[in-house]
Amino acid sequence: MDDLFKKLIAHAKEYGFIFPSSEIYDGLSAVYDYGPNGVELKNNIRKYWWDSMVLLHDNIVGLDSAIFMHPQIWKASGHVDAFNDPLIDNKVSKKRYRADVLVEEYLEKIEQKITKEVQKASKRFGDDFDEKQFRETNPRVLANQKKKDEIHKRFVASLESNDLKDLKQIILDCEIADPVSGSREWTDVRRFNLMFETRLGSVSDDANSIYLRPETAQGIFVNFLNVQKSGRMKLPFGIAQTGKAFRNEIVARQFIFRMREFEQMEMQFFVKPGEDMKWFEYWKEKRMKWHQSLVPDSKKLRYHKHDKLAHYANAATDIEFQFPIGFKEVEGIHSRTDFDLAQHQIFSGKKLQYYDVESQESYIPYVIETSIGLDRTFLLILSNAYSEEKAPNAEGKLEDRLVLKIPPALAPVKIAIFPLVKKDGLPDKAMEILTDLQFDFNCQYDEKDSIGRRYRRQDAIGTPYCITIDHETMKDNTVTVRERDSMKQDRVVISELYNFFSGKLSMRKLFENL
Ligand code: ATP
Repeated sequence: MDDLFKKLIAHAKEYGFIFPSSEIYDGLSAVYDYGPNGVELKNNIRKYWWDSMVLLHDNIVGLDSAIFMHPQIWKASGHVDAFNDPLIDNKVSKKRYRADVLVEEYLEKIEQKITKEVQKASKRFGDDFDEKQFRETNPRVLANQKKKDEIHKRFVASLESNDLKDLKQIILDCEIADPVSGSREWTDVRRFNLMFETRLGSVSDDANSIYLRPETAQGIFVNFLNVQKSGRMKLPFGIAQTGKAFRNEIVARQFIFRMREFEQMEMQFFVKPGEDMKWFEYWKEKRMKWHQSLVPDSKKLRYHKHDKLAHYANAATDIEFQFPIGFKEVEGIHSRTDFDLAQHQIFSGKKLQYYDVESQESYIPYVIETSIGLDRTFLLILSNAYSEEKAPNAEGKLEDRLVLKIPPALAPVKIAIFPLVKKDGLPDKAMEILTDLQFDFNCQYDEKDSIGRRYRRQDAIGTPYCITIDHETMKDNTVTVRERDSMKQDRVVISELYNFFSGKLSMRKLFENL
């Protein structure tokens, strides 16, 4: 695992963001708990997503459907038959992998070789470098591109035809080794359903078998008419929902990137048939902007078109972020056609159609879905924020500084308040300021250790502003406000503090970039 990733995991635990679940019992694999700072950050991310969907779109409304649903729903949606991953075991390490992920990672390695070759040449030739020509003529690039294209084509064909034998053969032909043991001794590839099954009520028979939902989307589809009719919604309109989802993932060794219990933020946008591609493009762009508002370095974000479409989709793109473990999916944008509503119409025997007043016809709407993992977005923000720097201490000597540059509006604690010393009435004054500011902002009081150490503690959890109350304060009612990233200090009058912070800490700044 990447060094930076290990540091992030340790930092998240030490500073109360994320703990392994059931830790005193040695933990539960791929399940995590959010600590005091973690839950604040998570709530803020959820609110930012929710408001950018529901608050900023008058044609998107919210829903909170139950986790337990009628078992027929998962038959209709295709999850009982098709929600499975191809798994493969290594015979030496006994570790289990997703066969498709092993091949994808191998393809990514070839791509990295090509990129390195291009970067080397670009450095060598400087301004004269013609990347297109280089890619079309350099023998090493050409050979790697050919190899990648051939494997890719075979890989997609094997997934599409569900040819598990060939999927294994690709792994053997590419000489893909177990990253743990280096061994190339693999079992056959098998399919594994990811849904957790449980029983409803006290009678233990098959009829009472239900599933923990593997996605929040189906709760939206089965409520489509309830929401449309009660809100007199006209197409196009969307329904947004956040909530827990459960998947018995085969491989779960990547911290909160892949968990067995996680949270999704999904929005299903219902449109007139034929307008689906237009809205698919619209949401692709809109969602990328949302991510860019959190990650200003645009090179860290990219689209990834799906190699194999899910059974319900006619188009799908992921938005990927460059985590310390590589570019990985954070959000999926899927054009789900009328698949889900049509299936529920068949399985439930109830009409799920929309009456279009303009054309005076009834039809099943098409759906564009935006589906993002809350925990993965949390990891994106943490990875992007983590920064090790050198900064001058009180004597002007350079020291290590670890700072989380979380977007201010999302930071768990917004303002930390320090009395310079624990006497002369400074703590009382500090508490007075805190009592006032905490109506609007999440504040923290700290009087322990030197101011420098208190700054470092707040930097480590990403607090954007620290206020220091000193002896000047008692004379002129001004305080020192120190900003996290620039470490710049301003003198601000106490009665002006609310105005000083409100613009800087509100989500408005993020919304304006959407
Ligand atoms: P992956 O290919 O990584 O398994 P997926 O394509 O199955 O993901 P979707 O079904 O499209 O994922 O789910 C939408 C979003 O939910 C994903 O983009 C991701 O952010 C999140 N998500 C899915 N599975 C998990 C998981 N096991 N742990 C955390 N987040 C998840």
